[in-house]
Amino acid sequence: MRKEDCIFCKIANGEIPSATIYEDGDFRVILDLGPAAKGHALILPKHHFDNLYDLDDEVASRTLVLAKKMAGTMTRALKCDGFNLVQNNGTVAGQTVFHFHLHLIPRYEGDKANLGWTPGKASPEELAKIAEEIKRAE
Ligand code: 5GP
Ligand code: ZN
Repeated sequence: MRKEDCIFCKIANGEIPSATIYEDGDFRVILDLGPAAKGHALILPKHHFDNLYDLDDEVASRTLVLAKKMAGTMTRALKCDGFNLVQNNGTVAGQTVFHFHLHLIPRYEGDKANLGWTPGKASPEELAKIAEEIKRAE
């Protein structure tokens, strides 16, 4: 399935050129045009899914297996010191392209990638209440 006017459908299927570092029948892995750090890449499934909520289970599991393989290859090639996987869903979470993708971000000592958050505070009681809310929705 492809979606009209989806830029990542077009890139994943080769209609728009990209710096591709891996391709198979179901995925293309490309370098990000606005990298957080050298070698920042995106795993794109060739089928269109808006986001994680929408993602097929089989594609979901194969995405993580591919991420593991790419992390090894990219770490050897780029000699990075660490690695982040980032995956945004919804505008509030920073998603800007609404075709599921997983960011592969090599990290280097002293790099300027800014992926952190300020830790909040939560009591054990609050955490227990939230855990119950989530479990009730299963
Ligand atoms: P999101 O914010 O949706 O998680 O990530 C979208 C990512 O796609 C951004 O990091 C952005 O730099 C990248 N991006 C957007 N358009 C293009 C494009 O046309 N080509 C490539 N290679 N990356 C893109
Ligand atoms: Zn798409």
